[in-house]
Amino acid sequence: MNAPEKPPADAEPHVMKTYGRLPMALSHGRGCWLWDTDGKKYLDGLGGIAVNTLGHAHPKLVPALQEQIGRIIHTSNYYAAPLQEKLAAKLCELSGLSKAFFCSTGLEANEGALKIARKFGHDKGIARPEIVVYEKAFHGRSIATLSATGNPKVQAGFGPLVEGFVRVPLNDVQAIEEVAISNPNVVAVFLEVIQGEGGINSATIDYLRAVRRICDERDWLLMLDEVQCGIGRTGKWFAHQWAGIAPDVMPLAKGLGSGVPVGAVVCGPKAADVLGPGNHGTTFGGNPLAMRAGIETLRIMEEEQLLDNAASVGAALRDGLLRELDGVDGFVEVRGQGLMLGIALARPCGELLGRAAAAGLMISVTADSVIRLVPPLILSHAEAQQIVDILCPLIKDFLASKP
Ligand SMILES: *Cc1c(COP(=O)(O)O)cnc(C)c1O
Repeated sequence: MNAPEKPPADAEPHVMKTYGRLPMALSHGRGCWLWDTDGKKYLDGLGGIAVNTLGHAHPKLVPALQEQIGRIIHTSNYYAAPLQEKLAAKLCELSGLSKAFFCSTGLEANEGALKIARKFGHDKGIARPEIVVYEKAFHGRSIATLSATGNPKVQAGFGPLVEGFVRVPLNDVQAIEEVAISNPNVVAVFLEVIQGEGGINSATIDYLRAVRRICDERDWLLMLDEVQCGIGRTGKWFAHQWAGIAPDVMPLAKGLGSGVPVGAVVCGPKAADVLGPGNHGTTFGGNPLAMRAGIETLRIMEEEQLLDNAASVGAALRDGLLRELDGVDGFVEVRGQGLMLGIALARPCGELLGRAAAAGLMISVTADSVIRLVPPLILSHAEAQQIVDILCPLIKDFLASKP
């Protein structure tokens, strides 16, 4: 037996220990590939957690951002913002919605949505508005968004939580019907079309349509958190479009700027004019660099038909995983859609993160036992097959070993 290893020296003594980090530092990337500072190469199955839509160092994005940085990065929201109008118009065209507010992160987009819901309630005379939220939901780590989140680990230590949330299980129409009947203070329903951090759990098409109907009947806002599942990841611009419905409020972030921090709250007519001057704002929101990143990301996605790519490569990746894993003891299922896939195992598998990295593949593990794949949307069929080839033997090995 080996002598117990000394704990490694802390390489980042001045960085707060809020993350459990693997030891490798990534130095650069190209397409779906990353290199660490020792020169080791990795296939990127994580995309910076569904952020690097166009992969790394995209040859069309890089010069556009360089040009923008050389021109102007930031101006404040005191002045007219033509690039905000341009990106807002594009998001409205793609979603069928009518107005957008820009911020920098997912939680901030969700804070905006929560404020819209509360003000929508106050405007119609509801003094203590409540919002329907979901078990296993994840909406961010600010005090309000962690209160909306349905994960006790995210909330632990940060009470008192923000009030005004009613929690229901996903895909249970009766549960939300009961809330509708019993709670006159509800003003909105807030859900992820596909729960990301909660383990890649999809709202069914029937459920989304039922919730849309209930929101219409009750004059509630339907607020769909597409921070992770939006921006082409499922093979449509927004995951709710598979159900043929439209939300009233749609927070976006992660993939919208291909790595530049960009968040947005896109609203339909029922919600677009709820906030007025002085109601909301954020210093960095909608700055020219962020807007240029969003505009170019969407433009390049269209040019390179990345929605079709996400759908077809995602389907091939799912098939490849199933071919290898079907019938393996301890494998549960592959969930999700397009290039947002979860491989559910029967037991916690966090250690696979490090094992996959050692084998040259970046992945993540959510909800303890679900391997999450959210690669760049430029992933090729050959690269999808490489993910299968690297990952499946690791999974089989892991499941064959004693827990
Ligand atoms: C990541 C995520 C958030 C939070 O986004 P941040 O940019 O980390 O604040 C919110 N909602 C969903 C669905 C997410 O996946």
